[in-house]
Amino acid sequence: MSVLLTRASSINRALDEIGDRWSLLILQEAFWGGSTFGDLLAATGASRGVLSDRLKWLQGIDCLRRRDGRYRLTRKSLDLYDTALMAMAWERRYHPVPAAQDFTLHHRRCGQAFSPLLACDACRAPVDGRAVAYSPGPGATTDERPVKTRRRSTLPASAVPGARNVYRHLVTLVGDRWTANVIALAFHGIARFDDFHRELPVATNTLADRLRLLEDAGVLAAQAYQRRPRRFEYRLTGKGWDLFPFFQTLLHWGDRWCDRDGLGPPMLLRHDPCGQRLHSRVRCDQCGEPLEAYEVALTFAGEQEPAEAGQNAAAAAAQRAGGLTR
Ligand SMILES: [Zn+2]
Ligand SMILES: [Zn+2]
Repeated sequence: MSVLLTRASSINRALDEIGDRWSLLILQEAFWGGSTFGDLLAATGASRGVLSDRLKWLQGIDCLRRRDGRYRLTRKSLDLYDTALMAMAWERRYHPVPAAQDFTLHHRRCGQAFSPLLACDACRAPVDGRAVAYSPGPGATTDERPVKTRRRSTLPASAVPGARNVYRHLVTLVGDRWTANVIALAFHGIARFDDFHRELPVATNTLADRLRLLEDAGVLAAQAYQRRPRRFEYRLTGKGWDLFPFFQTLLHWGDRWCDRDGLGPPMLLRHDPCGQRLHSRVRCDQCGEPLEAYEVALTFAGEQEPAEAGQNAAAAAAQRAGGLTR
C-alpha cells in the first residue's frame, strides 16, 4: 500500500475530497449560481455519467445538498469561497481572457471593483509563500494514509469546456493529484527529482511527465545543478509562487473540515514578517475588509445584469447569518 508523507498530507486531505477536476468545476459553477443537473451538465461539459458520479460524491462528503431538483452549497462548501476567489485571481493574472469574455468583481460593501487578496490576520500583509515557515502540528502523526487510486487523466485546459470556467488553467494543474503534490512540495523547497520521488509514491515516468507539464505551464523552471550526468532542479517561478494563496486557503479548509481524527492540523505555518502563526483571509484590495459571498457580484462582459456571485452562496450565507440550519 502506498502512502503519502508528511509534507504533502495537509493539502492532500482537502484534495482527497474535492481535488479532482470535475468536482472543482462543479463547485465553481455552484458558486456562480448553476444548480440543476442540466445547468451543471451544460456548464462543466462533463458526461452525464461523470456528472452523476461526482454529484453523488459531493453529496456524500456534505459539499452539496439536493433539494427540489437543485444542488445547493452547504456550510462546508461555502467555506471554499476564499479558495474560489484566489483561484480566480491567479487565473486572471496569468491567463487573461479576451475582453468579451472577461468579468468584473464588485464589492457591495465598499461599492468598488476589486481584486481579492490573501492577507495575514495578524499583520495584514499580503501572504507570500516565500515568507512562510513550517513546523509539524498536532495532527502530524496521522500523515501516513492510503492513497486513493481513482484514475485521473490529464486533460489540457483547452479541453475543459464551458464559457464561464473562470479558472480553467488552474483546474488543469490542481485537478491532477501528482501535479498538485509536486507544487505543494515545491513550496517546501523540494527541488530535485529524487527528493520529489522520495516524498511521493509515484512512478518515475509519471513524475517526469508532471515536472515537464509544470515547466511547460511556466510554474516551475528547470536549472542544471550537475553536469555529468546532467541533473536538474525545479524551482517555482513567480507564477508558481503566486499559486501559494490558493493552496493556503485550501489547506485551511482541509484543517477545518477534513480533520476526521480530530487531532488538529498536521502542519503549522508561521508568517515571517510578523512572526505569528499564519491565519489568513481573503480581503478586498480596495477597502481591506474580508469578502463574503453575498457581498460580491460578478459581472460578465456582455451580460446586462450582474450575475450573483453564487445565488446559492448568497441564500445560504443569509441563512447562516440568521442561524438557520439546512
Ligand atoms: Zn503576518
Ligand atoms: Zn471593498
